[in-house]
Amino acid sequence: MTHIYGDNDKLVFLDEDAQASESGLSEKFWNVLVVDDDEETHTITRLSLANLVVNKRQLNFLHAYSASQAREMLLHHGSQIAVILLDVVMETDDAGLVLVKYLRETLGLEEPRIVLRTGRLSNAPEQSTIIDYDINDYKIKTEFTRNQLITTIVASVRAYQHIITINQNRVGLRKIIDGSANLLEEHSIKEFCEGVVTQLASLLGLEAEGLVCAKAGSTIGKDLETVYILGAAGNFAPLISQPLTLLDDVLITDNIQRCLRQKQHIFDAGFSVLYLHKAGFEAAVYVNMTHDLSANDKQLLELFLSSISIGYENVHLFQQLRNAAFRDWLTRLPNRNEFINLLERPSSDSHTSRTVALIDISRFADINDGLGQDAGNALLVSVATRLCSFFDSSIDKARISSDIFGLVGLSSKISPQHINDLFESSYQALEHTIPLNVHIGLYELPSQKETGLEILKRTNIALNRAKKRHQDNFEYYAPEIEERTILRLSMIRQLRNDFADRKLQLWFQPQINLSTGNIIGVESLLRWPDGQGGFTSPAVFIPMAEYSGLIVDIGQWVLDESCRRIQSLTQAGYREVRVAVNISMPQFRDRLFVDKVKQALARFACIPSQLELEITESVVMDEPQIVIDALDSLKAHGVSIAIDDFGTGFSSMSYLQHLPLDRLKVDRSFVNDIQPGKTAVIAETIVSLGNKLGLSTIAEGVERVEQADYMKQLGCIEAQGYMYAKPMPFDALINHLAARQASTH
Ligand code: C2E
Ligand code: CA
Ligand code: CA
Repeated sequence: MTHIYGDNDKLVFLDEDAQASESGLSEKFWNVLVVDDDEETHTITRLSLANLVVNKRQLNFLHAYSASQAREMLLHHGSQIAVILLDVVMETDDAGLVLVKYLRETLGLEEPRIVLRTGRLSNAPEQSTIIDYDINDYKIKTEFTRNQLITTIVASVRAYQHIITINQNRVGLRKIIDGSANLLEEHSIKEFCEGVVTQLASLLGLEAEGLVCAKAGSTIGKDLETVYILGAAGNFAPLISQPLTLLDDVLITDNIQRCLRQKQHIFDAGFSVLYLHKAGFEAAVYVNMTHDLSANDKQLLELFLSSISIGYENVHLFQQLRNAAFRDWLTRLPNRNEFINLLERPSSDSHTSRTVALIDISRFADINDGLGQDAGNALLVSVATRLCSFFDSSIDKARISSDIFGLVGLSSKISPQHINDLFESSYQALEHTIPLNVHIGLYELPSQKETGLEILKRTNIALNRAKKRHQDNFEYYAPEIEERTILRLSMIRQLRNDFADRKLQLWFQPQINLSTGNIIGVESLLRWPDGQGGFTSPAVFIPMAEYSGLIVDIGQWVLDESCRRIQSLTQAGYREVRVAVNISMPQFRDRLFVDKVKQALARFACIPSQLELEITESVVMDEPQIVIDALDSLKAHGVSIAIDDFGTGFSSMSYLQHLPLDRLKVDRSFVNDIQPGKTAVIAETIVSLGNKLGLSTIAEGVERVEQADYMKQLGCIEAQGYMYAKPMPFDALINHLAARQASTH
């Protein structure tokens, strides 16, 4: 019968055929290395210790017959060996001691216990060696009885087990410290929770797979009762930020719910759900587990869970900062940044279409100015409140900018009709009741993914179009709108570059006196080479230059260039030829415009009357006072003024008396109306109006003789058109002038 030392030092009997694995080493056994050059000692040791069980594990023997053989074994398997029974005298008198030194110092292995055995007392190591090399026991072979051997081995194995546990705890503690420190650096709930799962897994030596779930509540500001997956690792990772209900595993969801309900950990076969509850944060951490948790593991867990509260507080702080960055301070709705995030979030149902809407409150600035900022703010809050009560929680609402609100949700719920209904009745703002008008831009989201910013941009394009509409106050985004916008923007960029590179040209179209046929002036017309031998029409690019403000610089160049040409014309003997320059509205808005014209004239020593400015009726009507003041001042300086495209501006004629005009240019369309044998009523009216007001008239776009004859008959004095000459570069103009002079003389 064999003594067997069990858990509680009770004697038990062991099943004879428990064996070590083939590799010779096993985790389920205590590995005992016997090192001795005496064959017999090996046999006796085996026999004496056969069937000994310590703390539920049997012994497994490894045998080395020399110090060098033992050295080899220790090098490869040292960390798995619990006890070494070591002969001191082998190849040399101190071969065993040299081996101990090798184990402790060279290999740095502190865990294996060492029991020295020697034949004679004279080979006993020094006291200091025993202490320095942490040797457990020292025995003279002859004194070593079987019982003593068993006692020594049991004590050594126990000591070994303790050391291992302490070391494991130390590793565990280090992981906790590192883990919490890592978590401290996480700035989002998502990262934090992911970190918790990963750290837990590493703590427990598991596959990093698991979930952190919590009721949304204060954490993410959503529906309070729904449990969300805040963090996940491994296979669960794609589920982050989704409601727990999306997880297709009843066992897991039930246990998570149970853990949150009962507010306690659940340890079960194959998984654990840990209850986390710190600083107002309540969560359930689910981890897959293939082995049971030891008491030791559970202690580590508790320690870990309590230490991560620091990390959570940290995250909470960031969450609040985040809120500040993603919430509108006034309405508490998501702000533009957050709206962009919301737009990017995949919809829970990919089959139903979603629509984004931007709602722009008309004339909000006037309300703000008129009633004060407090009333303005109250009004915005009141709009936000109505949006929230009308549109259920499936629709996300946001304030995008001061007076623009955003919605995103099911297309069936977000329609112009629904939104307009909301603005049927007035809004309350402090003591005021204010009716509101809005413009609505809508964008039905496509199935392919777009960034939030792109979506917002497109909806905004639709909104801008909606503002230009007269009948309806809304517009849906359509790709053509954007194509136009993109084209326009790239054209403006190109124009800006080409202008900077001095690629724009100024051409000149002669104007003639209908009775004499003499050239009495030219009109300066911009030409923009398109890089392919042709020109982009000014009818296309001038509106863009105006829209972008680029016309101010370009117009200045046209003025300078025209004055330079006036100087050249004068020097060439054509001092009677005026040069007409087209002026756009943005140029008048420049306070220095009048000075700039005068400076251009002075720089090239021009007689001011040789310069004529052409403005359209719409320019006059846009800001009459600015234009009238500027023209008065220029007129006083001697510059001539013509109204371009006269008759097309639908404007009141009364301003004609207030403007210091010289000439009306009869628009090409009226000249075009002139047919043989018919009266061209408008052309006739314009000419007689000009005559009554004492203004000269010039017919634009004269292409055929009958048009010229008719205009001349009406009393129109001058004409311009392809019939006489097309616009041409300045050199060509000089040749043209010279040729005509030669033919008339
Ligand atoms: P606009 O001021 O009415 O200029 C007259 C336009 O009619 C010119 O077109 C000219 O080439 C064209 N035209 C002249 N005779 C005939 C004709 O017999 N038949 C036809 N079909 N067309 C004729 P262009 O040069 O394409 O200029 C278009 C518009 O671009 C101008 O209309 C003017 O509004 C603007 N523009 C051109 N240069 C400038 C500039 O330097 N500054 C500003 N602000 N606008 C300019
Ligand atoms: Ca013109
Ligand atoms: Ca014109």
